[in-house]
Amino acid sequence: MQIADRLNVVAESITLAVTAQANALKKQGIDVVSFGAGEPDFDTPEPIKDAAIAALKAGKTKYEPTAGTPEARTAIADKLRRYNHLDYSPEEVIISVGGKHSLYVAMMATLNPGDEVIIPAPYWVSYPEMVKLAGGTPVFLRGEPARDFKLTPQQLAAAITPRTRMFIMNSPSNPGGHTYHRQELHELSHVLERHPQIIVCSDEIYERLVFNGQKSCSWAALNWDFWKSRTITCNCLSKTYAMTGWRIGYTAGPRELIAAMNKLQSQMTSNITSFCMPAIVNALSDPANEAAVEKMRLAFEERGEHMWRRLNAIDGVRCVRPTGAFYCFVDIKGLLNRPLGLSAAVCRDAVEFARRLLSDAHVAVVPGNDFGFDDHVRLSFATGMDQINRGLDRIQEFVTGGAGR
Ligand code: PMP
Ligand code: GLU
Repeated sequence: MQIADRLNVVAESITLAVTAQANALKKQGIDVVSFGAGEPDFDTPEPIKDAAIAALKAGKTKYEPTAGTPEARTAIADKLRRYNHLDYSPEEVIISVGGKHSLYVAMMATLNPGDEVIIPAPYWVSYPEMVKLAGGTPVFLRGEPARDFKLTPQQLAAAITPRTRMFIMNSPSNPGGHTYHRQELHELSHVLERHPQIIVCSDEIYERLVFNGQKSCSWAALNWDFWKSRTITCNCLSKTYAMTGWRIGYTAGPRELIAAMNKLQSQMTSNITSFCMPAIVNALSDPANEAAVEKMRLAFEERGEHMWRRLNAIDGVRCVRPTGAFYCFVDIKGLLNRPLGLSAAVCRDAVEFARRLLSDAHVAVVPGNDFGFDDHVRLSFATGMDQINRGLDRIQEFVTGGAGR
């Protein structure tokens, strides 16, 4: 069958592919330690589940408004006001099928062919592909590990052209694990304020997963009067509430953006699963969930510190200390072109390294190539401490010439 040309420029998601590979090996009975998936290993808090079950039992099984029920949109607007200091009305919110869908619909609604989109690297694998699908051109700006992968205002200023239409900000970041300080965001925003044609797409899905006393900051809150009309605020319930499988994302932005997204979504997916709407209300407004969110955050903080320390103790490995999300993005330059594992074969880049680590040591990591760094690999610490220790023992052994398992 003929496949559309538009897919020729798009890659499959490597994060999902590695997770699927690890799961397939586990199914064959192989004891794989997976640092692949970027998804909490915790279960969704009970009150949220109960809200969905009650809605299902009460017959909430029919079509709802495309953008979401008024109750769910109101709960989101309330949360954005309370937690993010953003003054959106419920009509300025649209609910989509996960954060990924929110971002995709937002880009489809705003980008025209030829529009340049500045993407700080390392970046989440899906941004460039979404931009291309929407007809835009990704422009990558490399953040250096020595600066915790953060961009400087000078770098940003130098990348702007008359075609620049969008800047993507993701803080806390996947895969970098870095979190911008408010002042650092201010400095970047001052650069962009001189170019009113540029809008900002702020992916804030890891906002609650911050460590070592760091705080996240919503882009539009930097200067609400200026940025309200130029910011797309994207978020989801996936990471904060351990709800990756539920597929609930949301976008807040100016009315014309939400109307455009609504038009597209009305021809694409319609509303998200109807009985999930009351679960959104519960997740964002029942104080009982706060304790669960904090418990998960603390666990991630402890695991992140531990993984970071252990990684840096391995000869040839360097890792920036994570301050948010749940990833260690690891520099493996020192391991390339040197004998590894029992076979003592060498790896030339991160793809080969990840392949060997999985086949020889049975540890799944995501090669950094599709995050923009071919000499890095990403390890997710959204897994238990025992798994983290077992996986790191294997990596340690693999890089020092052992079997690794
Ligand atoms: N943005 C980033 C930075 C992510 O890591 C992810 C990963 N899932 C998403 C968006 C999409 O989230 P969701 O699972 O809700 O689609
Ligand atoms: N965001 C997660 C990750 O980066 C989930 C997989 C995906 O959607 O890319 O691993």
